[in-house]
Parts: sequence; structure tokens; C-alpha cells
Amino acid sequence: AAGVLVGSMAACSSERDSATESTEGGSAEDTFVGIAMPTKSLPRWNRDGAHLEGLLEEAGYETSLQYADNKVDQQVTQLENMINQGADFLVVAPIDDTALAPTLQQAADAGVTVIAYDRLLLGTPNVDYYATFDNYRVGTMQGEFIVEALDLESGAGPFNLEPFAGSPDDNNAKFFFAGAWDVLSEYVDNGQLVVPSGKQPASNDDWTSIGIQGWVSDTAQAEMENRLNSFYADGAKVDVVLSPNDSLALGIAQALAGAGYAPGADYPVLTGQDADEANVLNMIDGKQSMSVWKDTRMLGDQVATMIQQILDGETVEVNDEETYDNGEKVVPTYLLDPQVITPDNVEVLVDSEFYTADELGL
Ligand code: BGC
Repeated sequence: AAGVLVGSMAACSSERDSATESTEGGSAEDTFVGIAMPTKSLPRWNRDGAHLEGLLEEAGYETSLQYADNKVDQQVTQLENMINQGADFLVVAPIDDTALAPTLQQAADAGVTVIAYDRLLLGTPNVDYYATFDNYRVGTMQGEFIVEALDLESGAGPFNLEPFAGSPDDNNAKFFFAGAWDVLSEYVDNGQLVVPSGKQPASNDDWTSIGIQGWVSDTAQAEMENRLNSFYADGAKVDVVLSPNDSLALGIAQALAGAGYAPGADYPVLTGQDADEANVLNMIDGKQSMSVWKDTRMLGDQVATMIQQILDGETVEVNDEETYDNGEKVVPTYLLDPQVITPDNVEVLVDSEFYTADELGL
């Protein structure tokens, strides 16, 4: 591979001077895997990166793990460097789902195999496989939790709902919202759920209108504060907040606390995703009702298996070949199962060694 060689990658790149070589038939020792993660600011991505890198290194691969501080340009540069260093595989969790298409063309030209990690890469034929959790299921789990918590099936209500959605440039966010809204919209339509702020998409496709750019906690907090100040100043109470993930739920919980909501029977139902440590602690304290846990170790295991299967020339195991159309192709996908965590079953996280009892104060 021609081009920039940085730091410790120089040694392994020189052994691999033809990036156009097929990855098939290689050994782990001759294989360089570049891992591009979006940001260190969310705990999950730190776990994701560390676990996958550890697994691959143990198996003998050469790796480079990069975080891009949620900056698209930085991620592009990191990927270009990996390609120039002779990467055989790129494992990419994009910051912006469409922005990497030109870079992935460079990867394809250099014979690199590309695996989309957790988030799909859109608008490019140059993505070979996708491994993720069932994103639509994450959303239905949040919706079903709300239905049960408020006993909506018995006709209870009306309840005040404030819905949020994830980052408009993240393809997952569309699936999270669609899953939740497919469960909840019938109760909005029949008046059991009311949205005092009016911040409710006209249809599933309109979810970006309530999306929080970059999944930033502070932005979610400011948005929730706005809604509380503008639509609840007359003493109306929020009964339920649909939050697609934990980083948003953290900001929303802050806004609720600021407006005087305290844990107890009147505290709103608040959903989340990732089982981040701060959120699990919030659940234990009664400041969040649930989180959809995605055991990121399973995702890393699956990606490492994919890489090994490709190297061995085996059929790559996938279990979904219809859902994830990226605009250029339907990307063969391995979907993993998410799991609901509530204050009543947090010990699942300790039993599986995701957290220690100490970390959760148990
Ligand atoms: C991931 C979530 C995460 C969110 C923010 C999504 O693409 O699937 O697990 O909470 O990004 O980083």
C-alpha cells in the first residue's frame, strides 16, 4: 500500500504491499483490521472498541482502533489512513450514515472488505456486511414497555407523552423510532396518549423533526426544558417520555429534576437504550424506568467471526437479508437480540459481568 504510514502501523503495512490482494485465504497474522468508532463520549463505544480490538489481537490480527470525536472529517481521515496503511478490513461505526461513500469507494478500489458496525453505511455499494442489534426491536421494546407501564391496553389515560428521536444522520434512529411509534401511535390516535408540545411526527418518516443531532445529552436536556417551560407551565404533568437511548435519557432526567420531578409514583415513565452505567444507577434511583441493553460483547464476537469466516473462505453467517437496504444494495446482516433491563432485573448486568456489583452499588 502506498501512502501515509504512521507510527506502529509502518511495520505491518510493509508486509502487505498489495492492498488489492483478496482477503480470502489469509491468516490472522497477515491481516490488518482498521476499526473506526464514532466517539469516546458515550460509554458504549469505548466498550465496543476495546472488546473488538482485544478479541482480534488475541487471535493474532494487526489492528488500529480510532475514535473520531463525533467529527465526520476526522473519521474520513482516519479511514483514509487505514486504507493507505494497507488495511484488509475496515469495521466502521459511522458518525454520519451517508458521508463516507467516497472514502468507501477508495476502500473498494484498494480491495478492502468493509463491515458496517452497529450503524449502517448508506448510499454506497461498498459495504460487504452489517452486524448490529435488531434496531426495530429496540424501538418496539420501548413502546411495549410504555404500553404496559401505563396499562394502555385497559383503556387508561389520557397521559401526557413527550417523544424524542435520535440523531437524524444515524440510520438506526429511524428504526428505533419506527419500532416505538408502530406500537404507540394507535394510543396517540385514540387519545389515550396526548402530546402537549405537539412535537410528534406526522408519520414515521417524519421522525427527524424530533431528532436530537449527534445524540447529545445537553441538547436533549435543553429541548426537554423548552417543552416543560412552554407547555407545562400551567401545572400539567408529564407522564411519559419516549427516549430512544440513554444519552438522551440522561439529559431528559436532568430537565425533569430541574422542573421539580422527584422519584416516586408521579415520576414519568422514561425509556432508554444501552444500559450505560449512569443510567443503570438512575434506574436504581427511580429516575429512569427501563433501558434496552445490547450486550456489545456479542456484537464484537459476531464481527470477529465474520472476519474469520471471510479469511477462511467460508460462507459468512447472516440472519437477515431483507431489512437493511442502504439505497444501493440490501446489505447482508447479522442481527442480535436486545434485552429489556428495568430496576427489577439489573442483576442480569452483574451476572453477565457487564458490570461489577460494586459499580452498581449493589
Ligand atoms: C446506537 C446506540 C447509541 C446511539 C448513540 C446508535 O447508533 O445503536 O446504541 O446509543 O447510537 O451513540
